[in-house]
Amino acid sequence: NLEELSGLPPGAVSHFQDEGIESLYPPQAEAVEAGATDGDSLVAAVPTASGKTMIAALSMLSAIERGGKALYIVPLRALASEKKDEFDAYEEFGVSVGVTTGNYESTDDWLATRDIVVATSEKVDSLVRNGADWLSDLTCVVSDEVHLIDDRNRGPTLEVTLAKLRALNPALQVVALSATVGNAGEIADWLDAELVASDWRPIDLQMGVHYGNAISFDDGSKREVPVDGSESQEDALVRDIVAEDASALVFVNSRRNAEAAARRLANVVAPELADEEKAALDELADDIRDVSDSETSTDLAAAVEKGGAFHHAGLASEHRSLVEDAFRDRLLKVISATPTLAAGVNTPARRVIVRDWRRFDSTAGGMTPLDVLEVHQMMGRAGRPGLDPYGEAVLLAKSHDEQDDLFDRYIWADAEDVRSKLAAEPALRTHVLATIASGFASTRDGLLSFMNETLYASQTNERGRLESVTDTVLDYLERNDFVEREGGTAGGSRSGADADAADDAFTSAADLATEADQDVDLRATNLGHTVSRLYLDPMSAAEIVHGLESAGSRPTAMGLYQLIARTPNMYELYLRSGEDDKYGQLYYELEDELLGDAPSEYEDNRFEDWLAALKTGALLKDWADEMDEDRLTERYSIGPGDLRGKVETAEWLLGAAETLAAEISSDWSVAVREARARVEHGVREELLELVSVRGVGRKRARQLYQAGVESAADLRTVDKGIVLGALRGRKTAENILENAGREDPSMAGVEPIQVDGVEATS
Ligand code: ADP
Repeated sequence: NLEELSGLPPGAVSHFQDEGIESLYPPQAEAVEAGATDGDSLVAAVPTASGKTMIAALSMLSAIERGGKALYIVPLRALASEKKDEFDAYEEFGVSVGVTTGNYESTDDWLATRDIVVATSEKVDSLVRNGADWLSDLTCVVSDEVHLIDDRNRGPTLEVTLAKLRALNPALQVVALSATVGNAGEIADWLDAELVASDWRPIDLQMGVHYGNAISFDDGSKREVPVDGSESQEDALVRDIVAEDASALVFVNSRRNAEAAARRLANVVAPELADEEKAALDELADDIRDVSDSETSTDLAAAVEKGGAFHHAGLASEHRSLVEDAFRDRLLKVISATPTLAAGVNTPARRVIVRDWRRFDSTAGGMTPLDVLEVHQMMGRAGRPGLDPYGEAVLLAKSHDEQDDLFDRYIWADAEDVRSKLAAEPALRTHVLATIASGFASTRDGLLSFMNETLYASQTNERGRLESVTDTVLDYLERNDFVEREGGTAGGSRSGADADAADDAFTSAADLATEADQDVDLRATNLGHTVSRLYLDPMSAAEIVHGLESAGSRPTAMGLYQLIARTPNMYELYLRSGEDDKYGQLYYELEDELLGDAPSEYEDNRFEDWLAALKTGALLKDWADEMDEDRLTERYSIGPGDLRGKVETAEWLLGAAETLAAEISSDWSVAVREARARVEHGVREELLELVSVRGVGRKRARQLYQAGVESAADLRTVDKGIVLGALRGRKTAENILENAGREDPSMAGVEPIQVDGVEATS
């Protein structure tokens, strides 16, 4: 019973009761018994939608009531705002909440006054690097979806961040929320935490496989779902459930497939819509078109009019929330989604259909099966407590054998173990530098003992491995002038045969053990500190530094864009078939503009990467040359969300490049700054002044420029009719004049004047 809980801020219990929470779910009660509200650490490994957030909330609120401060770490930016909205309701009983994502160079001191801070793991990592003082006030840290420690790209950051937060405050309460994984106990041991593991779900979940004309469920029951000759299995399954007035979620393996499926599935559900639903969907479609006029927007609106939608990471965030809200309100009947939707966002449906259980894996060069954990998370989205009688999760089989295989592979199977990915060099490169630069280790021994507190160390049996990779990384960092070693470098402190082997340093951990009494001091150089604070992969920084140093004359925007595009911090666009030639050609045209050393054409992979970076650079250049968003997304076959992602990353990397340029006293700071400003606003040089006026975007700036208005100063003095003629829209014109600092911005009685301008540049 909720009222029996003690130690929460007054008002918290009645708040939860108002939310419809009368008593704790069993795993929540177990968490309380394990000490969640007494400041004890715990790992809660329970299925999706079984109320993990409440476990976190009880822990955080009791910590705050004891005078502490809580941090909630989310894996995705999209989840940060969702959680913040949820916790904002606590303001009614005096608990304040702040959210921070992006901008990796600040300490966000304003957060010192917040009781709960919500942030992504990358953001927390950067706060540690920038030395945010308030982090040492934390008494409770929640790590949501902690099983993502297993993720090759992002896992190491979460792992190291948790280790650092614990090092800052050894009494810290860590509450780790996990999907049901194989080795939750191991994670609990690592965190010195109690384990709360449960299979309990608030709503029954039936799992099954559809084959032929029926679904066979895990409890032995069957449900007839016949497939008409011309339709697909998922069409039949969606039609069947929508006829019951429930909704369906279909998981597919790529954005393109999500869009194609939505087109088809929308036609399946359209005949089931009532008139008032159609009217509401028309409005929703208008809202979607209002967000942007891209092709994705148009396609999404077309599906939405018929009651369907697609959902993937290429969607603009406004689109994403419109779709999620309408699905939760049951206005949309079906969503086809890539697995990003399974990772957190709360959008249950009565029937979940996992259509694709394989996806293309570029490292493997072919289709590979999804992890059991991923499929379970998708399946866990089935069923809305209180709304559906049960949830159903269905896989699709094309043969009897495949049906058996799917039962074994996903329905009867347990999720995989979580394995640390920290020992991969790119991860260690970043985290070793950060650990030294932010003062967590000042000697090699100190560094190794910090590393020893990671999950990786607790999982590996190869004692020497962490040590030897750490040393390889130290070597790299020293070579690139990010770190200095004193008290003897690799070879320096050794003698005899060891010294001979020094070139091919750090081969054997046993060698190093003999150095134990001769510890090596480690210090980050100024450049190393800068790189760590900038949150750059040291390899990206080395590439940029080298590129700038090798530029004999002022680098062009294209040269700089290609340079940042080839760093590991920028996801390159892939080359499609036939594009090798196209970009090979472009390479020979632009060779002189590109910075640094191009690989030889005979180095297949490296050369292809170089061209892929050229393609990404060309995208940025087209954007900065004012090409329309629509044309860009078509030319490069990407979604508008991708374009924004690339532009944001480019802004960040060029900002970092400017700081690095100053650090190495490069002559090209101004060129870098200008390239950055152009990519930020998507304009050519001549519009940079105009876009600095609030309310003037790339299109309006071009219109004004064509009418002869070239700067804020012009806006203050030019004939108002010209501004009105260029911008159309009196209110807009007035606002812009006001923002430019014009004394009397009023447009009352002004007649528009058309000035014959030059043709649009793109
Ligand atoms: P998870 O994080 O485990 O996926 P959530 O915390 O999002 O799940 O919870 C899923 C839903 O269950 C939420 O809508 C939440 O309000 C509701 N819920 C959580 N705990 C309870 C409870 N004890 N009683 C009733 N509803 C609850």
